[in-house]
Amino acid sequence: MKSAKLINKKIEIIETQKPDLNIEGAIIKVTGCGLCGSDLVKIKHSNLKNEDKVVLGHEITGIIEDINCDIKGFKKGDIVSLTHHYPCFDCEYCKNKSYSMCKTFKNSNIYPCGFSEYIRVDKNHLKYTVYKMNESLKDDEKAFLEPLSCCNRAIRRAGFEYGKNKNSNHSTLTIGLGSIGLLMMKALKAFNIKTYGYDISEQRMQQAKNFGFEFDKDKKYDVVFLTAGNSKAVDTALKYVIDGGKIIVFSSVELDNKGFSNNEIYYRELSIIASYSPSPYDIELSANLLNKRLVNVENLTTHYKLDNLAQAVDDSFNNKIFKAYIEI
Ligand SMILES: [Zn+2]
Ligand SMILES: [Zn+2]
Repeated sequence: MKSAKLINKKIEIIETQKPDLNIEGAIIKVTGCGLCGSDLVKIKHSNLKNEDKVVLGHEITGIIEDINCDIKGFKKGDIVSLTHHYPCFDCEYCKNKSYSMCKTFKNSNIYPCGFSEYIRVDKNHLKYTVYKMNESLKDDEKAFLEPLSCCNRAIRRAGFEYGKNKNSNHSTLTIGLGSIGLLMMKALKAFNIKTYGYDISEQRMQQAKNFGFEFDKDKKYDVVFLTAGNSKAVDTALKYVIDGGKIIVFSSVELDNKGFSNNEIYYRELSIIASYSPSPYDIELSANLLNKRLVNVENLTTHYKLDNLAQAVDDSFNNKIFKAYIEI
């Protein structure tokens, strides 16, 4: 079967063995996989020593090809989407709800990688990260399970709960209106939270406007979500957050970033909260939001064939496209 691999810092599509079902779990025939900003970061920061361990592609949708255990009623032929990590629910991190810091979470993964014709998942993936998807969704829409889960977690880290914000007059600002910023705003809307969006690019501001999202430069915001990879976004966040407000850090920035000033955080009593990866609860919520079309993710992707993955990566690095979806 075909599978993507990083070789000498370049993406190659290699011919490799189809995975065996030699553990309790399932084989998934991959239909497609989204290209995530974190894949791009992994490619950029890979080196010849660690590239063998780089697993690319985790925004996966596909069909269960084979299964050898009875979990959540899954059976051959089910159309599913999935994410790659699950926690142990038992360690100190898990007890503290820091699921993405759990060792099991960091070590669990799919095999061999999302940009493959077939992958193997284990029974814990089936239990915690695999969900049946509504067949009326397009394949690229199904592949938003993972990125939307990440947004759900960030919103919950900010102190909001789904279904409990009816009379909330909180207002939020998302800085960075790439695909993940736009998805964050769509998720905030589904959570019933008033939201605005800002980007240094006029074109992205206009695009967000077309999706119904505005920016008010005279307002201050209770919570600012930082989804931009540019270090200048930190200054913008400090400018627009209210005193006593929260900044949710949701992206990595270049290492030249000077970061947040201690005194600004101190005198203004700001909370700086990071959100890196979703918990199983956020994945389940994401499946519900997508399946019931409470978050609409139509027409957000540009499609590439697996053989053209390197092109998709280049186009993403050069900001030529909004988000790449790889058909497999
Ligand atoms: Zn992702
Ligand atoms: Zn744990």
